[in-house]
Amino acid sequence: MNVEALRAALLHWYDAAARDLPWRVGPREHAAGVRADPYRVWLSEVMLQQTTVPHATPYFLKFTTRWPTVGDLAAAPDADVMAAWAGLGYYARARNLLACARAVARDHRGVFPDTEEGLRALPGLGPYTAAAVGAIAFDLPTNVVDGNVERVMARLFAVEAPLPDAKPELKRLAGGLIRDHRPGDWAQALMDLGATVCRPRAPLCDRCPVAAHCAGLATGAPESYPRKTAKAERPHRHGAAFILTHGSRIALVRRPPKGLLGGMLALPTTDWRATSWGEAEAVGAAPAQAAWRSVGEVEHGFTHFTLTLRLLRADVDVSAASRDLIWTPRRDLDALPSVFLKAARAGLSNLL
Ligand code: SF4
Repeated sequence: MNVEALRAALLHWYDAAARDLPWRVGPREHAAGVRADPYRVWLSEVMLQQTTVPHATPYFLKFTTRWPTVGDLAAAPDADVMAAWAGLGYYARARNLLACARAVARDHRGVFPDTEEGLRALPGLGPYTAAAVGAIAFDLPTNVVDGNVERVMARLFAVEAPLPDAKPELKRLAGGLIRDHRPGDWAQALMDLGATVCRPRAPLCDRCPVAAHCAGLATGAPESYPRKTAKAERPHRHGAAFILTHGSRIALVRRPPKGLLGGMLALPTTDWRATSWGEAEAVGAAPAQAAWRSVGEVEHGFTHFTLTLRLLRADVDVSAASRDLIWTPRRDLDALPSVFLKAARAGLSNLL
């Protein structure tokens, strides 16, 4: 493979076709000496590990409007940040986000370290994010490899070893393409290629700037890369969620600080287990005695398992219910994590 020709083709394409992203300094401004704000780069990278650009963008704008600097975020109350994160999923990341912001504010006077090692030493900042912030914000020649870059490498080099075993090989191949020339633009060009052209299911090879260098395309079936080993099925769990209402208010609880959805507001639920909950059994575990009615169920997919929640609803007298309940106006339910928002909406509407 002619690495220099491939690099020139991809950077040339990036100069013309770079995505316009709210955290990005585009290639033209970058060439004129404008540097990306490390805070914005870091925040966007943490959010993008969860979700897609269209889903992350409103969150990014909300965070940076409310907390324009890492010092502002560091000073924010935990509950405000967790509530603003709701809907992005994987809440451990929101806790790590705060820990990292506070370390930058406290230990580095609000300035992100400008080396990969310094970034890596920040709490909750993993090797991928350190490499990405290093490349994009500081123009360091780091090797920024996520699932998109792995896919592009597997196709460019027609790597036959399946994922996840192929990961070290894919990283090594990506590393072989890095030079000191424009490392930040290079990292972002690869990201854009993976997101807009070398897409997971249907790569747009006829529009690809590096098609002439692609061994996967030469096989005639580039979409069959990366090879994958058969996936184990995600386990399934069952629970019951209780929708207690009183007038225009609904009862929520705060989940314990550790574990899945730790520290987040939630509907009261039973344990989540492998076998389903019968109605009578679920009523026995309810947080209040009331005339419970079954109002359907919802399914939700987490990273490591799927969940079916049986929904039970009742109107209750606040004084007869547990004191641990947080009575919340229904219009404020948007601060709930997706699984509980979905359950609350279904439970409230199914009875109408
Ligand atoms: Fe991906 Fe197709 Fe480009 Fe190869 S030619 S890098 S498979 S889009």
